[in-house]
Amino acid sequence: MFSDKLLNELNEQIKYELFSANYYLAMAAYCAAKGMDGFANFFVVQAEEERFHAMKFFHFINEMGGRAQIRGLDEPKNDYASLEEIFTLSLNHEKFVTGRIYLLMNMAQDEREHATISFLNWFIDEQVEEESGMTDLLNKVKLLGSEGQGIFLLDKELALRTFTPPAK
Ligand code: MG
Repeated sequence: MFSDKLLNELNEQIKYELFSANYYLAMAAYCAAKGMDGFANFFVVQAEEERFHAMKFFHFINEMGGRAQIRGLDEPKNDYASLEEIFTLSLNHEKFVTGRIYLLMNMAQDEREHATISFLNWFIDEQVEEESGMTDLLNKVKLLGSEGQGIFLLDKELALRTFTPPAK
């Protein structure tokens, strides 16, 4: 069983994952307002993924006999200047989340809390995907600029993204 200190940080992570969902929804709203429905879809799906992450922490804490807590969220930034800004902020945010997962993992390892270590391994792998995906899109957006046929085609491609919860 994890310590109260680790439980507190696991509960903080529910908050950060839900904040991530709201942050990406705010980005989705910006893209939708600019007529970039594919980019908007990408961020709506991203928000669904973040809520799924929050629920993984919620269920894990409860399964372990701890008590999940739902804490207050800060308001995300709602005004953006460009797609490049959005993907720069998204990548920075994912790096922050990776730092959070590493902090949790360090604490779990200090406590030799093997169930929590096993649980967190999924998130370690997930963050590699998240950072790589955001880096890829940031580079594409930088290359293509904010308008033109390239962005139009990327928008069409991102319209196809759907959320499928992983089996495990
Ligand atoms: Mg997440």
